[in-house]
Amino acid sequence: MRERRLILITGKKGNALKAVVTGGAGFIGSHLVDALVARGDDVTVIDNLSTGDLRNIMRHLDSGAARFVRKDLLGEGWQDVVRDADRVYHLAADPDVRASAGNPATVYDQNVTATVRVLEAMREAGCSEIVFTSTSTVYGEAEVIPTPEEYPGMQPISIYGATKLACEAMISGYAHTYGWRSWVFRFANIIGERSNHGVIWDFVHKLGSNPHELEILGDGRQQKSYCSVLACVDAVLYAVSRTNEPFSCFNIGTEDWIDVTSIASIVTAEMGLRNVSFRYTGGDRGWVGDVPRMLLSVEKLKSLGWRPALNSEASVREAVRALLRDTGRIP
Ligand code: NAD
Repeated sequence: MRERRLILITGKKGNALKAVVTGGAGFIGSHLVDALVARGDDVTVIDNLSTGDLRNIMRHLDSGAARFVRKDLLGEGWQDVVRDADRVYHLAADPDVRASAGNPATVYDQNVTATVRVLEAMREAGCSEIVFTSTSTVYGEAEVIPTPEEYPGMQPISIYGATKLACEAMISGYAHTYGWRSWVFRFANIIGERSNHGVIWDFVHKLGSNPHELEILGDGRQQKSYCSVLACVDAVLYAVSRTNEPFSCFNIGTEDWIDVTSIASIVTAEMGLRNVSFRYTGGDRGWVGDVPRMLLSVEKLKSLGWRPALNSEASVREAVRALLRDTGRIP
């Protein structure tokens, strides 16, 4: 690895935008790295590989298009990388909404403390652009659906959602205080190739162990918006290139939703399984902190000219196929 890093450092391009991607070996981060490399940016990934996987970005490391720094944002030794950056894409976080109820202080550290450490590293380094991946869960159980960015009564109902809202506030404070540009993106459920958590991942793995019965958390009627990871990354870069404010905030999602039982039916059909019995754990939500109905307004993004390419159902079907390929269940 040492030898590879030396080669990669000398391989930097002259006029390319220097981007740091925290969490760049993870699911969404690695797709962002793909897109940044494709447009010629000079990319450095910082990741502790807690949930990320180096294989997601290996071809960029091998080609010299990106370099990798294995560090934990809560530790030391990564801040120098930021010194060299034009922009930080900060994706590293603990993204597990369900598990966040079990370890709130740890989630706070992983999400809020890590974000403040990134902001401090940027301030000391003189780096003044940050892109941040937030979430629909900052709205809590919104009474306005589709929920716009200006929704007034933000009241997260999960620890995860609360930590992300706290991060947004800190980013706004830093950006306005120090004259930066910042972009916050509130994602619906993002799905697709390399996914490592979430309902589709859960169903595929459960059915891999027991193809006769599928446990579904809640009553299966939870309705949410699901967006392909490729569309998500496309929307992020689209909005960043067209806005220039100290603090810009955009929802990213599809314009419709799909319920959990329909997702279960798509997964079983795509896996070629018949006569699977669905066993519901009951209740209107899957876990403490689950928001049963989530649909984000994407009018603000659309006003810039962006459109989601697929609806929720098509995104789910595509993601199931990608996950089955990822896990070797179909070629
Ligand atoms: P992921 O777990 O695949 O990615 C997170 C990455 O961050 C991993 O590679 C992990 O190893 C790394 N990481 C975590 N803590 C770290 C630390 N302390 N130091 C260094 N690296 C660390 O998850 P993802 O789904 O790709 O999520 C990416 C971002 O998008 C997260 O901020 C998440 O909250 C946000 N988000 C995701 C979704 C979704 O549906 N997947 C929805 C809303 C928001």
